[in-house]
This record gives sequence, structure tokens and C-alpha cells, in this order.
Amino acid sequence: MINIFLASVMGTVLHLKRRCFACRREQVIKPSERHKTVKCKFCGANIQPSKN
Ligand SMILES: [Zn+2]
Repeated sequence: MINIFLASVMGTVLHLKRRCFACRREQVIKPSERHKTVKCKFCGANIQPSKN
């Protein structure tokens, strides 16, 4: 049971990670911004939401 819980948490965290195409750094975005274009906090480039 604990493994299923951990797997779902990991999946959620990974889903909220987005890699900037400009500086190639990963960052965690807010759940509310999951389907929106966000600004990279490192270089300020717009990062499109992933298509899934
Ligand atoms: Zn960037």
C-alpha cells in the first residue's frame, strides 16, 4: 500500500516538473499552472505546457 502511495506522489511531482527549452533547467511549477504557459524562473523564457 505504501508503495502505491509513493508512486502516485512521485508521479504528481514529476508531472509538475518542466524543463526550460532555453536554459534546459528543470523547475517545479504550481499545480494551478499545469496547463498554462509559465515563465522560467531562471531565464524568463516562456515554457509551453507539455502535451499530455
Ligand atoms: Zn530558462
